[in-house]
Amino acid sequence: IALFVTGDSLSRNQAQLVLRRNAIQSIFTAALGISSMLLFVSHREAVLLIVTITVGMVWLVRVNNRQRRTHDAYRATHQLGGQLRDSEDLTGSLQCIANETQLMLNASSAAVITFGANPQVVSAGEPFALPSVGDVVWERTVTNRQPVLLAAGATQRNARSYLRQHRVRDLVAAPLVRDDVAVGLVIAANHRYAADSFRSEDLELLAQVAMMSAVEVRNHDLIEQLRVEADQHLHDAQHDSLTGLPNRLGFTEAVESVLAEIEVVSDSTHPRRAALMFMDLNQFKSVNDSLGHHVGDALLVEIAHRLVSLLPTNWIGARLGGDEFAVIGTFVDDDEIDHFVDVLQHSIMQPIRCDGAVLNTSASIGVAVAPENGLTRLSLMRRADVAMYAAKGSGSRRFLKYQPEQENVTARQLELVADLRTALDHRQVEVCFQPRASLATGAVMGIEALARWNHPVSGPIAPDDFIPLAEQAGLIDQLTDLVVSEAVRVSRELADNGMGLEVSVNISARTLRDPQFPYRVFSLLAGDGSERHRDHPVRLKFEITEREIVLDSVTTNDVMRRLRDRGIRFSIDDFGTGYSSLAYLTQLAVDEVKIDKTFTAFVCESAHHRAIVKSVVDIAATIGLTVVAEGVEDQATWDMLSSLGCEEAQGYLLSRPLGVSDLQTWMQERSRSLAAIS
Ligand code: C2E
Ligand code: CA
Ligand code: CA
Repeated sequence: IALFVTGDSLSRNQAQLVLRRNAIQSIFTAALGISSMLLFVSHREAVLLIVTITVGMVWLVRVNNRQRRTHDAYRATHQLGGQLRDSEDLTGSLQCIANETQLMLNASSAAVITFGANPQVVSAGEPFALPSVGDVVWERTVTNRQPVLLAAGATQRNARSYLRQHRVRDLVAAPLVRDDVAVGLVIAANHRYAADSFRSEDLELLAQVAMMSAVEVRNHDLIEQLRVEADQHLHDAQHDSLTGLPNRLGFTEAVESVLAEIEVVSDSTHPRRAALMFMDLNQFKSVNDSLGHHVGDALLVEIAHRLVSLLPTNWIGARLGGDEFAVIGTFVDDDEIDHFVDVLQHSIMQPIRCDGAVLNTSASIGVAVAPENGLTRLSLMRRADVAMYAAKGSGSRRFLKYQPEQENVTARQLELVADLRTALDHRQVEVCFQPRASLATGAVMGIEALARWNHPVSGPIAPDDFIPLAEQAGLIDQLTDLVVSEAVRVSRELADNGMGLEVSVNISARTLRDPQFPYRVFSLLAGDGSERHRDHPVRLKFEITEREIVLDSVTTNDVMRRLRDRGIRFSIDDFGTGYSSLAYLTQLAVDEVKIDKTFTAFVCESAHHRAIVKSVVDIAATIGLTVVAEGVEDQATWDMLSSLGCEEAQGYLLSRPLGVSDLQTWMQERSRSLAAIS
């Protein structure tokens, strides 16, 4: 009987418990029956008393049973809570719930179904047919969010037909509810005791389990959400939002893992090596500054796209910031790197159309190789950087592999930058002046201020060497301010001595994108506000090299307009070295064009050069520009330029750049000799 009642097996302890309990119950019931019989035989009128006692006893047993069930249920749910806390994933939790439901409700089968983002069906016990959308159980639990009990031998028609169709004897189900929405259901079917069926207490118990399950599903959803967010954060932290490429952090990780990999895989017969490349776009800053950040961004995105499309499998490309890109990958043969760089450089040089502009760019690339150039991330990155800087400085080839000699170059450059900064702080950068004269009359028309740096150890350093350095190191504004203030000072000094002249200052195109620049110039020009300064206003001209000129920049136009409003004039320097047509350049309000010395130098020998100079002179005449020829070193060139219609000349023939006092002496002599001729 015990076996029938419990369904299947019994443990030794359980058997003892059942036997002991049944023995006591039997003895008690027998004693009670016998006493009742005796009482009934002796006192028939005691029948009422006996009935009352029996009813009372039955009631007590029932109450006791119910309490025991409640207690069992409480204990079971408590135990389930503990198991859920220990389970790691949602499927594990749902399995616990199904198992415990089956046990608690004495069911042959149980199942938990969840739907939503991560739908699951987990069951325990014998397989059974689950409810589906539209049937009575689904309607009641999922749609109406009510628990449902279909007891054995149910009389309701839809309940009966459900049980028949699903081949279950009886069933109890409850929805998992979250925020008034059913997110799943828990269900138990086929009560284990043939003589028994599910009751309303089971329904309550199941509702409680369903509540716990809903909380559990919710917790797992939250954990999942946190995990997804954490993954997203990690991804964001390691990637560049503009191009989607790994950023510096992501690249660092990639390098570490590639280096770890080559260490593991390498054996002496098949040495695996890694190449770390740094790539820097040339002229990116001027695109960004003049055409705006949206064009700069579009350029970077396009370059990133081209880079990624060329990467061999397992190579990783990254954007380290600004216009700096990097690549890490493994290779066996040096040819693989040469080929990749060739293709990459070629691809980058293809014009990029953006916002109506056609951009041409190129890249400087440096590469360091493991294990030869280093085995750690830091040493490789540093050396690739050194190689890249050397490539940038090398001009033509723009791709270099790391060589120890390159260290000296960059180390020297860094030293120079530091020295230049000190020199500027102490105003040790000097300014000399080169005059320019009318080709027709020989009269001095103006002077050009040229920076001079006499390094305390290395001696004089050419402006062509230190100006680019100042631009790279962000010292150019300081340098320009120094030269402008010297130019203004000297121009005043000359005017005081009766030699008022226009003074030209070279400025980098970048300076014209600085909205503060005009104000700095105005304050220098205002001088001390004295009458002397007002009566002899300084005539200032700014020279910008043709290669650096970019049109369409709103800031540049605005800065130039402000300066022009105060009488400052503009000149296009080194004309002929860029690719602009003169007509194009005149969209920019300028007053003068200086033909580069590479053209003037050959004007006597080459008909081609003569033709170019002549056409520049003709166009300039029609649009009202003064044409100045630079680098005039001999009289024949002077005469030729004069006959071609050039108006002014500058060059060693007239004078080398001079210090202020030499300049004054030179000017006095010049005016004396001019007077003598006339
Ligand atoms: P630039 O503006 O074209 O200046 C003229 C350069 O040609 C000067 O070189 C001058 O010394 C040189 N030169 C003058 N006459 C002759 C000649 O007859 N034959 C030859 N072969 N050369 C001649 P420098 O002083 O070395 O300056 C080089 C460049 O450095 C300048 O070229 C200019 O672009 C830049 N630079 C000089 N000073 C400054 C400055 O204060 N600011 C900026 N941004 N750039 C400067
Ligand atoms: Ca110049
Ligand atoms: Ca020039």
